[in-house]
Amino acid sequence: MQPNANKKPQGQYGIIGWPLGHSKSPLLHNWGLKQSGLPGAYVPWPTQPAKLKAFVAEVRARHIKGVSVTIPHKQAVMPFLDGLTDRAKAVGAVNTLFWREGKLLGDNTDVEGLVKPLEAHRGALKSALVLGAGGAARAACAALKELGVADIAVANRTASKVEKLAADFGVRAVPWEERVGTWSLVLNTTPLGMLGENQDQSPWPADAFGGVSLVFDLVYNPVRTRFMADAQAAGVACLSGLSMFLHQGLAQFEIWTGVRLDEGRARQVLMADMILTGG
Ligand code: NAP
Repeated sequence: MQPNANKKPQGQYGIIGWPLGHSKSPLLHNWGLKQSGLPGAYVPWPTQPAKLKAFVAEVRARHIKGVSVTIPHKQAVMPFLDGLTDRAKAVGAVNTLFWREGKLLGDNTDVEGLVKPLEAHRGALKSALVLGAGGAARAACAALKELGVADIAVANRTASKVEKLAADFGVRAVPWEERVGTWSLVLNTTPLGMLGENQDQSPWPADAFGGVSLVFDLVYNPVRTRFMADAQAAGVACLSGLSMFLHQGLAQFEIWTGVRLDEGRARQVLMADMILTGG
């Protein structure tokens, strides 16, 4: 944390992670603060794992209003908090720190980030396959359970990890090599398709969309991934990771400030940035 971070104690927010890399969260939250006429700012706080405990002590001492939590702190931060929301408990990870009645609590708004875009499709979601078994896959399983999807399955490159995930959530494990099949929804929670060395890759064969009705790619940079492009070419509807990012961020902002930002305008802010930065 910056030594002068307590200069605006009534409105300080930020994100911790290590390495933090480039995050769109400051863009969204600083836009939100300005729109709402609220004081303060949202800043990046690159925080090494060994400094996490001291960071949380500073959050308490300075009464920092809100913190977004990203890799590798989403689970490690939990023992330093006074309590967890039901969603954070369900996922087993935290992406949001906030204050209620003098207690520093942890929530997981990634679940809302997934539930909101899928709500319009709820009636058609008979089955869903989650690709990957990391933190985002756990949020996906929690969201699909909340949505009442009857048949939820997970497939992962490393079989041992998928079995633990399936057991934790009471869902089916499918071998990675046998993932292609008939699914109402396929969610990509692997980094395949992300800007960089994985950009041209997809977790799904381009000629195997015959049994798929909807895809949701959690990767949001680029906005249109190889997986989505292949799905669209096969006539399959797509949801973008940008929708998840938007909704998890809108939920955080509301938890911290009580203000629900305009979804359409917030989406425009993010899309404009993606266009300008080549995402
Ligand atoms: P993570 O915990 O590191 O998990 C990554 C998963 O992807 C693991 O199961 C891993 O499999 C699998 N994987 C990695 N490389 C692969 C490859 N080459 N082929 C097949 N599988 C591979 O990461 P995470 O936190 O879950 O995040 C995953 C993705 O979700 C990231 O792209 C992240 O940006 C995105 N995400 C988006 C949002 C949003 O708001 N849109 C929010 C959270 C996360 P192994 O077990 O075999 O290593």
